[in-house]
Amino acid sequence: MEIKVDESTCTGCSLCKNVCMYDAIDIVGKKAAINENCVFCGACIDICKFKSIEITGLSQGYKDFSQYKGVMVFIEQQPGSIADVSYELLSEGKKLADALGTELTGILLGYNLSQSYPEIFKYGTDRLYVIDNEIFENNLDDIYAKALVQVIHRFKPDIFLAGATGFGRTLIPKVAAIIKTGLTADCTSLAIDPEKKILLQTRPTFGGNVLATIITRNARPQMATVRPHVMEKKQIDVKPGEGGSNGKPDVDIAKHAESISLGGPDSNICKSGEDYNGRVEYIELDISNFKTKYKLIATEKETGQSINLTDYDVIVSGGRGIGGPENFGLLKELADALGGVVGASRAAVDSNWISYPHQVGQTGKTVNPKAYIACGISGAIQHLAGMQTSDIIIAINKDPDAPIFKVANYGIVGDLFEIIPKLIKRIKYGNNLIQN
Ligand SMILES: Cc1cc2nc3c(=O)[nH]c(=O)nc-3n(C[C@H](O)[C@H](O)[C@H](O)COP(=O)(O)OP(=O)(O)OC[C@H]3O[C@@H](n4cnc5c(N)ncnc54)[C@H](O)[C@@H]3O)c2cc1C
Ligand code: SF4
Ligand code: SF4
Repeated sequence: MEIKVDESTCTGCSLCKNVCMYDAIDIVGKKAAINENCVFCGACIDICKFKSIEITGLSQGYKDFSQYKGVMVFIEQQPGSIADVSYELLSEGKKLADALGTELTGILLGYNLSQSYPEIFKYGTDRLYVIDNEIFENNLDDIYAKALVQVIHRFKPDIFLAGATGFGRTLIPKVAAIIKTGLTADCTSLAIDPEKKILLQTRPTFGGNVLATIITRNARPQMATVRPHVMEKKQIDVKPGEGGSNGKPDVDIAKHAESISLGGPDSNICKSGEDYNGRVEYIELDISNFKTKYKLIATEKETGQSINLTDYDVIVSGGRGIGGPENFGLLKELADALGGVVGASRAAVDSNWISYPHQVGQTGKTVNPKAYIACGISGAIQHLAGMQTSDIIIAINKDPDAPIFKVANYGIVGDLFEIIPKLIKRIKYGNNLIQN
């Protein structure tokens, strides 16, 4: 596919530049010039009054993907820590790589990363590409996207996986659009078709009522994002001789040797050094072309208690039925008695009764605790999407027809303000549930 500007008719009016969301048009010498950021969305063609822009070669013929090999995982980090979903994806990526008889690689971008990666090798990573530069300090997705595009052009992974985190959800679609490949977001399972050796990307659709399996037929890499805590995080044995003390691999990025070129239109030169028995490749990008559209005004740490619902075996969640913020104290008492934590439906969060990190569901956290106790929650499909894989679901609701009872292992029909104090007493003091 190619996009061209007819310079004989282009007036340099800039309408196309203004409409392009991908920063792909410059006006040079009063003519539009389209650069490599173009994703062929066609918006500029529609806006140009002079029909000066044309896309050619739209028909899809046979494509040779033989250059694309291996499974690559985007390893998401915040200063000092790697997102858990990255370990989950490495574990899943290892299975896919084994099924294809290929390599599992990780790509890690950030600033001052040297302490971050020994852990990564415990999940089966064969090779880790690292880009350590201060421009990655603030997790600006457009800068990350430009770097990942170059990495993908250079290393040509057959499969590229990333977490469907807040950051992943803004970053990865940009990368897929620039690379011109498909992206299946929010997958719940991944597998390799044993005959065709392609990635089967399964995700819920139609509000979770249907599971769709999607394939990427005409482009590479096959890209998918996966929500946190959907895949199992599984360490593999660190082989003798590959680990330092405590079985941790020794990683020292001080040695940087050969130079390689990432190629591509900008022909960025990068340095590459090898370590951890040749398994860490440290890449230094030429960042002169990396501009961000964002203006960073300030960074503020989230205030208030930080909470990670997925750290707990028991979650006691409250919905609109609890009536107000003050009643979360009752749920907390029950959660404390069980060594658990308080969760919430979106209705409770939207009412400002409790903060967003407590929200469970499609637009909140996906959780799978040993026990999930839903109190005054109706069981809307968007809530179920985040908790129905819990080992045991207990629902307390005064409406016997509430949908939550369809997924509950145990249901208590009644007023939660009568039932929960009795449960607390029972758990704390072993009192009889019915008579007290
Ligand atoms: C795009 C989208 C994304 C969404 N994402 C999420 C999400 O991530 N998480 C989420 O939770 N929702 C989400 N929602 C909202 C979802 O559709 C529901 O509106 C929400 O889950 C309802 O919350 P609720 O069950 O607390 O409230 P309600 O549906 O109002 O249910 C309250 C329940 O409490 C019961 N009740 C009332 N009083 C008592 C009492 N005294 N004792 C016992 N029971 C009582 C009632 O019988 C009722 O069943 C999303 C919606 C959309 C459109
Ligand atoms: S909108 Fe058309 S005429 Fe105007 S600058 Fe773009 S290509 Fe040229
Ligand atoms: S086709 Fe879309 S991305 Fe490409 S230059 Fe035109 S508006 Fe920008």
